[in-house]
Amino acid sequence: VPALEVDQLTKTYASGVQALKGVSLTVQPGDFFALLGPNGAGKSTLIGILSSLVNASGGDARVFGHSIHRERRAAMQMIGLVPQELNFNIFETPFQICVNSAGFYGIARDVAMQRAEKYLRELSLWEKMDAPARTLSGGMKRRLMIARAMMNEPRLLILDEPTAGVDIEIRRAMWRFVSEINRAGTTVILTTHYLEEAEQLCRNIAIIDKGTIIENTSMKHLLGKL
Ligand code: ADP
Ligand code: ADP
Repeated sequence: VPALEVDQLTKTYASGVQALKGVSLTVQPGDFFALLGPNGAGKSTLIGILSSLVNASGGDARVFGHSIHRERRAAMQMIGLVPQELNFNIFETPFQICVNSAGFYGIARDVAMQRAEKYLRELSLWEKMDAPARTLSGGMKRRLMIARAMMNEPRLLILDEPTAGVDIEIRRAMWRFVSEINRAGTTVILTTHYLEEAEQLCRNIAIIDKGTIIENTSMKHLLGKL
């Protein structure tokens, strides 16, 4: 089954704004997929629906075959989300932040502690595991968001404009870690409004504008057309 099948999703906000006008796309397992589009295109709305933060007005999406409507819990179990904003408690330590997040998923504490060590090591944060998160550098804070998203061992990792306002060095380091996670088998979707970012990382791409997918192709094919 595909990692993600989005089928005619629509979203009309109470304000009357039609943020999604029948969006369909498919992401294959193992892919590193870019969702590219300008501000206001509908990227965050789509990610919000997939991660259960926003209710769709119509249509469906299946995550590894699990419908976000009929099997919401199973679908959620497949997804790790890295939101745009840093949203952890800066007075907690990376270790606490990761273990608590696992608790939210109902993961046993001993397993949670093993995983926290595993992912904090993978993201080069282990030496800071016990320091208050507010003392971490900007790049470390971004990597902590990724480590936390991995605690549920998601099969699909979604990053919503994770490098907005992040400098080039930090961005490069983040992409090295995310590429490693992808090589290890996790499907990755990232939203961005920079083609250069998508171009360097992603194998396939969908371009969204005004709530409509205007292109859905391989990166190679897209670059050949430009
Ligand atoms: P993107 O992430 O691509 O910038 P969004 O999904 O945030 O796009 O926004 C798509 C459209 O929906 C925009 O016109 C935006 O103003 C509108 N929108 C987003 N969130 C809300 C909301 N909570 N209420 C009303 N309109 C919204
Ligand atoms: P982003 O960081 O992707 O822009 P936001 O959720 O902060 O995501 O906002 C996305 C867009 O939706 C922005 O243009 C914002 O002005 C608009 N927006 C957010 N919430 C609302 C809302 N309740 N009503 C109308 N527009 C909204």
